[in-house]
Amino acid sequence: MVDGLKKLYPDGICSLQYEKDYELLFAVRLSAQCTDERVNQVTPALFARFPTLEDFAQADVEEVGEYIHSCGFFRAKSRDLVLCAQVLLSQHGGKVPGTMEELVALPGVGRKTANLILGDVFHTPGVVVADTHCIRIAGRLGLTDGTKDPAKVEKQLREILPPEESNNFCHRLVLHGRAICTARQAKCGMCPLAPVCDYAAKQ
Ligand code: SF4
Repeated sequence: MVDGLKKLYPDGICSLQYEKDYELLFAVRLSAQCTDERVNQVTPALFARFPTLEDFAQADVEEVGEYIHSCGFFRAKSRDLVLCAQVLLSQHGGKVPGTMEELVALPGVGRKTANLILGDVFHTPGVVVADTHCIRIAGRLGLTDGTKDPAKVEKQLREILPPEESNNFCHRLVLHGRAICTARQAKCGMCPLAPVCDYAAKQ
């Protein structure tokens, strides 16, 4: 499955656009209940208006909200971005921390976000980003017991995925979930994973 997805999506990269580490952290926060495509539409203007972490830390929450309005839950998200910038400056020297414990202590950061930062910024082996595509497709493939609980999916995948492959494998599941194994329809007839997929075998 790892090799099959690698062939299908050679660039197993995160689809969120960013230049600085904290920009990825903020983009992931914005992506909650929103598409990466939408986030990529708003972040260029947001990051241009607030080009440094200090600018975010001093920003007016309402003004930040105006830039991210279309991402949904803009009040909570804008508050988290400003608070997070303040905490990064006051407690981490303006750097994004590199441990799960420190990351999940940041405003608006949960395990999914923390895993993504650990994988993409720090290249920590063994991380699993259990997002909606990952949960659905891992269940269909038979890599998990079908649970929808992100923590359980993360644990089950960590146990079986090669640690050096796990982060990009999850990125590729997102690409696969958009292109072929969508929530509405699993297009097994055009999927190279069909010979090793539990769901396809049952059809
Ligand atoms: S074979 Fe079907 S269910 Fe399995 S991963 Fe491919 S599209 Fe999804």
